[in-house]
Amino acid sequence: MITAPSRLIRRFFVGKGQEFIFNREKPGLGEIKKTDFYLHIPFCRNMCPYCPYNRVEYDKDLVRPYLLAVLKEISLYREKLGKTEISSVYIGGGTPTNLVDEVGIILDALRENFSLTGEVCMETSPADLDGEKIKKLRGMGVDLLSVGVQSFEDRHLKTLGRKYDAGKGEEALKSALAAGFKGVNADLMFVLPGQNEKNALADLDRAMELGVNQITAYPLFTFPYTSVGRHLNLSGIKMPDFFKRRKMYRKIYERCAEKGYEQVSVWGFKKGEMPRYSSVTRNNYIGLGAGACSMLPGAFYLNTFSVKAYIASLLNDKLPIALNMHISPELNRYYWLYWRFYDARINKAALKKTFGKKDFKINLLFFFLKTFGFCREKDGEFLLTERGSFYIHLLQNYFILNYINKVWTAAKAEPWPEKIEI
Ligand code: SF4
Repeated sequence: MITAPSRLIRRFFVGKGQEFIFNREKPGLGEIKKTDFYLHIPFCRNMCPYCPYNRVEYDKDLVRPYLLAVLKEISLYREKLGKTEISSVYIGGGTPTNLVDEVGIILDALRENFSLTGEVCMETSPADLDGEKIKKLRGMGVDLLSVGVQSFEDRHLKTLGRKYDAGKGEEALKSALAAGFKGVNADLMFVLPGQNEKNALADLDRAMELGVNQITAYPLFTFPYTSVGRHLNLSGIKMPDFFKRRKMYRKIYERCAEKGYEQVSVWGFKKGEMPRYSSVTRNNYIGLGAGACSMLPGAFYLNTFSVKAYIASLLNDKLPIALNMHISPELNRYYWLYWRFYDARINKAALKKTFGKKDFKINLLFFFLKTFGFCREKDGEFLLTERGSFYIHLLQNYFILNYINKVWTAAKAEPWPEKIEI
């Protein structure tokens, strides 16, 4: 539900010029010199109960048509954009490792059609990783690998409906670390049902002992449009209370700092020189695949979530765009700022360049943040404090996820929705 306070907040910051409506109008794709790409592979062999993503059960008959559709989508973007520079590729899902060879072909097509200058990042799950796949991924040019370990305790993996045990998680991390990627990230969840601070820190310590370059520690959160809420309810599991989340986050933050892992996002902590592994903080990106989103100057749009409708659209030489929201320059600026908060640091010169020197709302916002200890200034940057990082996470949880829930629910219900107002 989009609440009255969230409407008031967005009206205050973004003004009247922005309508929060997705419709079927096609976005105009202007000149784009540089962009990131996101590739969505929706096929999963385990349909995990808590999963919020656009996924379908693996069906080998759909694999080749899906591959051909993605290649067609790439060629349509090439026609529209020319040999644009790609500053990074992020591959997510679903389970990208179910289609390793196909992902290799898609990466080759991106390299042929565009100028790929940045890193290729890919998310994986221990359940689907083995030595041979890891070797292939490195060979096809994946630079940064994320392994969704979630926990090193079997009881939590069971609660989450994960189909691997803690030993498999460790093994996957060890093999990934030995394979020579530029960096390996371990995803860990905290405030899991029945997990106390000691347990959460033990998971963190284990990942550090194994030598991972980055840890992304994020709290369990539910997406009402998925079966996760029902799954947790059925299992008699409740979301942990605010104070427990607050305390556990502080402990994790402190432990990472103590062990030399520098904060690189609200949830991410990195050690050493590897480039940061990040899925979400990009400003402009084009999404390929069923259910992929794109954010380009002036437009935020979504591909159809239906795998079959996606393939059919590309067979007809049409981009599979289902919904589009016009983005005003004002909203675009706040979108930029939102992700800089997510990065936990905001460069002051870039802030000035984006909003101008005398933006009353921005000055007021930062005055408030500094006064209440949410951020501090250092070397030309605003740095989020531990408190600021936690509350940005809360904001993400309660504010933005409301929007995502509403749009995703409608987009999952039918392939080509008429209109969604958020
Ligand atoms: S959590 Fe991962 S493996 Fe499980 S259904 Fe979702 S995308 Fe698939």
